[in-house]
Amino acid sequence: MILSPTRQILSESLRPIRAEGLLLGLVPTMGYIHEGHLSLVDLARERSEFLAVSIFVNPLQFGPGEDLSRYPRELDRDLTLLRDRGADLVFFPSVEEMYPDGALQVVVDPGPMSQRLCGVHRPGHFGGVLTVVARLFGLFRPQIALFGQKDYQQAVLVRRMVRDLEMGVEVVLGPIVREEDGLALSSRNVFLSRDERADALGLRRGLQEVQRAFEEGNRSGQELGRVLFREVEKHPLLQLQYGEIVHPDSLEPLETVVPGAVAAVAAHCGGTRLIDNHILKG
Ligand code: AMP
Repeated sequence: MILSPTRQILSESLRPIRAEGLLLGLVPTMGYIHEGHLSLVDLARERSEFLAVSIFVNPLQFGPGEDLSRYPRELDRDLTLLRDRGADLVFFPSVEEMYPDGALQVVVDPGPMSQRLCGVHRPGHFGGVLTVVARLFGLFRPQIALFGQKDYQQAVLVRRMVRDLEMGVEVVLGPIVREEDGLALSSRNVFLSRDERADALGLRRGLQEVQRAFEEGNRSGQELGRVLFREVEKHPLLQLQYGEIVHPDSLEPLETVVPGAVAAVAAHCGGTRLIDNHILKG
């Protein structure tokens, strides 16, 4: 596995890959690798001939007062996990290496879909995400990039950026990987106390309740939203930010819900912000 802390090593390492015409797959991450990330690595391995992972905690996507400085980092462990899982290259630049000229002058405007859901509560977040993803796409020029359904809005926006700016990257979405009890894996779960960890399950339970009500014939977006609130409210350590049933592409809230719609939820659990979602079936 090639270790690449710099853009220089990255470009030298990718030259022969491009010359051979190997299909390059990229899994962008912020590190503190868990099975959710590794499931994307597995998907990427099946679909590409050279598998690269990036680890970069991107300051551009954190707002003031968010957890940039305490975001968990454990590079050696990450590298071991990625090597064991068959990654061919890991790019782990410092902030200075990623943004050598300091603040960028030209950045990506993520548009109106970034104003919904998480965007309401994290202004500037998706602009930061899309800007770093665009930069990674420029550095790697991958044919395929893999993103998790866990960050549904992020994946939709990356897809839209690729389409609107003709970036020529196939964006593949991987399913949400969960703990045995249903909590979606997240690097931030490490911050949860025992009590918070127990209440965090309320997000998943709320989504399951929405699925159940939908199967029983409830098609009202508003009522299904209320089903979600009611379940989340049973968990006192959760402070709901939003719970909505939205269109899978436009992310607009739905009055009438159809299969394939996305129930999306975000809440603070103590000092930790958690998100989850579920694509309605049936
Ligand atoms: P992060 O390191 O949190 O920025 O995540 C990097 C990538 O892994 C993103 O595409 C996430 O959507 C994806 N990811 C994070 N958690 C999960 C999970 N539990 N299941 C599947 N993919 C995930």
